[in-house]
Amino acid sequence: MFESLSERLGGVFERLTKQGALTEADVSTAMREVRVALLEADVSLPVARDFVAAVQKRAVGQEVLKSVTPGQLVVKIVHDELIQVLEGEDEPEALKIDNPPAPILMVGLQGSGKTTTTAKLARRLSEREGKRVLMASLDTNRPAAMEQLAILGQQIGVDTLPIVKGESAVQIAKRAKSQATLGGYDVYMLDTAGRLHIDEVLMDEVQAVRDIAQPRETLLVVDGLTGQDAVNVATEFEDKVGISGVVLTRMDGDGRGGAALSMRAITGKPIRFVGMGEKIDALETFEARRIAGRILG
Ligand code: GDP
Repeated sequence: MFESLSERLGGVFERLTKQGALTEADVSTAMREVRVALLEADVSLPVARDFVAAVQKRAVGQEVLKSVTPGQLVVKIVHDELIQVLEGEDEPEALKIDNPPAPILMVGLQGSGKTTTTAKLARRLSEREGKRVLMASLDTNRPAAMEQLAILGQQIGVDTLPIVKGESAVQIAKRAKSQATLGGYDVYMLDTAGRLHIDEVLMDEVQAVRDIAQPRETLLVVDGLTGQDAVNVATEFEDKVGISGVVLTRMDGDGRGGAALSMRAITGKPIRFVGMGEKIDALETFEARRIAGRILG
């Protein structure tokens, strides 16, 4: 497995037992290690570079106190900077789902965990917050995906929009909207079609659905194990559709979660939730501290 950042820095500062301020030379040796640790944790290169520059600026001239080693001091600075980037400036408190029925648009590539996450979030909203939720699958090309959402809905006791064969995604979105209004739902969730790769047709369709639904939240679901790819997907969806937040799935896996840092740094969008397994209750609120600890190792 990976060597933790503290272990690496311990090595770097082994011979450096002096106290006083960290010099530029001390810090730049340490920064090489920080950069490698970030890249190993799957943080994208440009993000790792900017991050290291920010840490370097903070670290040079810092007084090493008696109680900590230079290595521990640098780890602390890295940790604080990680939290600052991951949390962003004004972390939103809760999903914007007042003014019912509030539409939530779920977007992402096929296989990212979008349908599972839709159901996980619906369950959370209905069980924890007492919201009446309606889910609709817009994946007209994959009847199996529509069925999957219906089955998940039954399992968690959340209504799904009845499937009508031959409808377009936009027609389904309109029907979901009117059913949610007539039926007195608090929230309706639109699980859009995922494709294996980003393509024009997908983006046009998602844009049309967005224009009809006027979502209060557009959540991008991305596989947290895909590192740089996840960031490219996020940038593309942000440019074409506009996203309000991100859900990182498969954070129960072996990955170090560096995608979270890249995602936040590049898109500026908050990470709202993390998927922690296949089970329907395996969705957690994003916590910067936990991810920071994981990236540090
Ligand atoms: P979609 O094509 O994006 O709708 O993906 P699905 O929701 O069908 O999920 C694809 C696979 O990923 C399924 O086997 C899910 O159980 C699994 N999955 C989804 N989220 C997670 C997660 O957070 N952790 C793990 N380990 N598996 C997940």
